[in-house]
Amino acid sequence: MTREDIMQIIEDENIQYFRLQFVDIFGFMKNVAIPKSQIEKALDGKMMFDGSSIDGFVRINESDMYLKPDYDTFTILPWRNKEGVSAARIICDVHKSNGAPFEGCPRVNLKRVLAEAKELGYTMNVGTEAEFFLFEKDQNGVATTITNDVAGYFSLDPEDTANDCRREIIETLEKMGFEIEASHHEVAEGQHEINFKYADALTAADNTVTFKWVVKSIASKYGLHATFMPKPIFGVNGSGMHTNQSLFNLDGTNAFYDESDPLQLSKIAYAYIAGALKNARAFAAVTNPLVNSYKRLVPGYEAPVYCAWSASNRSALIRIPAARGLSTRTEIRCPDPSCNPYLALAMMLNCGLDGVKNDLTPPPSVNKDIFEMTSSQMMEEGIMVMPSSLKEAIEELKSNPISKATLGNHIFNKYIEAKEKEWDEYRIAVTDWELKTYLGIY
Ligand code: GLU
Ligand code: MG
Ligand code: MG
Repeated sequence: MTREDIMQIIEDENIQYFRLQFVDIFGFMKNVAIPKSQIEKALDGKMMFDGSSIDGFVRINESDMYLKPDYDTFTILPWRNKEGVSAARIICDVHKSNGAPFEGCPRVNLKRVLAEAKELGYTMNVGTEAEFFLFEKDQNGVATTITNDVAGYFSLDPEDTANDCRREIIETLEKMGFEIEASHHEVAEGQHEINFKYADALTAADNTVTFKWVVKSIASKYGLHATFMPKPIFGVNGSGMHTNQSLFNLDGTNAFYDESDPLQLSKIAYAYIAGALKNARAFAAVTNPLVNSYKRLVPGYEAPVYCAWSASNRSALIRIPAARGLSTRTEIRCPDPSCNPYLALAMMLNCGLDGVKNDLTPPPSVNKDIFEMTSSQMMEEGIMVMPSSLKEAIEELKSNPISKATLGNHIFNKYIEAKEKEWDEYRIAVTDWELKTYLGIY
């Protein structure tokens, strides 16, 4: 997309409002809306904002920052069309007042990590599967955990009363250029999944934050609250963000595919799996960033707990979906949709590449249900357990040298500072569980 293409669409579609978006280090999308009169200035990357007001960005004395739009992310916002007047958005990189890219911008950071991978001869393709719940709101408009249906996996209407909402989400995404591959009701009541086509890693991260925004916006039109919180309800499945990923060679061939191997996986694929497994405990704090994330990573709910890989079994951290050829890929199953996809992809990529650079071999694949194995069987097979809390994950992130190199000093320090604070707030909170368990008997 060129500047001229954008200006043409703005005229043709009567776009009067324009949003410049970027993402903070916790993955929250931010935007500043501007009227049509400012569009040319925005497209030239001359719009400034106060970076000190954004969590984890900069201090007040260095706060002027520029938004540099990525023309390819320009899209109309179909649900903002009011009586023929339209709105559009564009995703931006954050630059400092001296014009240099800001190392605290997750998108800038992912671009750096992808450029380093390219030096090694690889690009990364990614498909994310962000699951979510649709909940009802109470009379005051506050989200509850009451689901708006009692349907289950792959249910059909009429039980699946969220069908209309899901359909509008899909139609909206399609109008915005997403290629939707499937959508279905997930295992838990009120839980859904919509799959869209994979893309290069940067586009996939952009698509993931856009997807979450669209889901939330359309759900609210139906009076529902869409949430990507990893484990909103105890005792039922949580929401994952399985991340399908593969390395491609610069000639456009899939570096994970090798026809001659029994599983048709290349040495690069095995090394990537080995690197991801070796470092999974370190990327968890980024792929699973909340206190609540670790309440999902428990046995019994199709979420992984153990660092193993499998060609088929869904209890493993890494699964190899059956497709081969250009679609050969690994599915890393631990991430959840509360993560910042720009940071999560950077971390998973560099952890996998650690295996490639060091020619690592993964342990044998585990094709039985790991949840059925005893701890001594797991020890024998060298299977590590994922961190059981955000605290444990933060310690792992801190002690693995890949983290700082991948996130860069700015994001690494701010991220850890914020996550330690979050853990501390949780640590001193008195929870419902404690009151229920202790209040009566002590
Ligand atoms: N909801 C499950 C999770 O937490 C995944 C279900 C599935 O295999 O799609 O990861
Ligand atoms: Mg699913
Ligand atoms: Mg999946």
